[in-house]
Amino acid sequence: MPEGHSVHRLARQFQDVFGGTTLAVSSPQGKFTAGASRLDVHILERAEAHGKQMFLYFSNDLVMRVHLGLYGAWDFGGDSTFTGASSIGAPRRIGEREVAGDPEGDFAGPPEPKGAVRVRLVSDHGWADLRGPTACEVITPAEAVVARRKLGPDPLNNGAGDAEDFVQRICKSATSIALQLMKQDVLAGVGNVYRAETLFRLGLDPLLSGKNLQREEATELWRDIARIMADGVRDGRIITTELADRPSGTGVTVGCSFGAGDGLPARPNAPVPVEDAHYVYKREGLPCRHCGTEIAMKELGGRKLYWCPSCQSR
Ligand SMILES: [Zn+2]
Repeated sequence: MPEGHSVHRLARQFQDVFGGTTLAVSSPQGKFTAGASRLDVHILERAEAHGKQMFLYFSNDLVMRVHLGLYGAWDFGGDSTFTGASSIGAPRRIGEREVAGDPEGDFAGPPEPKGAVRVRLVSDHGWADLRGPTACEVITPAEAVVARRKLGPDPLNNGAGDAEDFVQRICKSATSIALQLMKQDVLAGVGNVYRAETLFRLGLDPLLSGKNLQREEATELWRDIARIMADGVRDGRIITTELADRPSGTGVTVGCSFGAGDGLPARPNAPVPVEDAHYVYKREGLPCRHCGTEIAMKELGGRKLYWCPSCQSR
């Protein structure tokens, strides 16, 4: 399932390629015909992500809410002007696919829909197809407010009071912090990779109860998640290791958009190989990058949890 950074990239893409334009909205598959007809020939005013959900606000005071779930994905295509934030220099992403346009020619309309296209959006310059979402519905702005209130704060939106809101939510429950970080009503947007990685980065025992987490630690968790997720929006993939912990010396420092440090022969423009990208996620049995202890893995709440038993003792 895409983690929040992918959904934020998608929202930026929609904002860039469709924002302020009138859209033809249809449901080639037929499952969303009634919803599509309510949005058809209206202007997309803005696209916003909240956690793993995207909200498209239209000029006729209606909102399209989309949750991709495990299998949902968007495809885009169009002419040379149809490029957005997430099309630039990024690797293939979960939940979004390459823009397939003809940069030389004029946009002659979208191709025949292939497969079960739930929603098709078409502007004068390009198109987007949605397949396989968990949720896709038309709601009112008031209903959008309710849907977003059900979610916890999103570190990528990081509004006023959001950090404090998160601290209060996670510290009031005796449930382990590893389980709480996956709950979208505690914190919206984090999935299994960010969960495992941030707990390692802060040296926190995944099974620590929320009630035993210090307020300062919870605040630092919020900050670290916001930092590494913002990198994910920029990079189009999840890289949580610091430069000094990457044997390949590739990429830039986490939380920093340029430069390198620690006197390593850094190759800031070279892509970070996948085996260097994480501290603990999918590294069970391999030596910890900091202490050499074997990374552990177990099932928790139906999902795999990865951690270093030595470094994460707090
Ligand atoms: Zn370790």
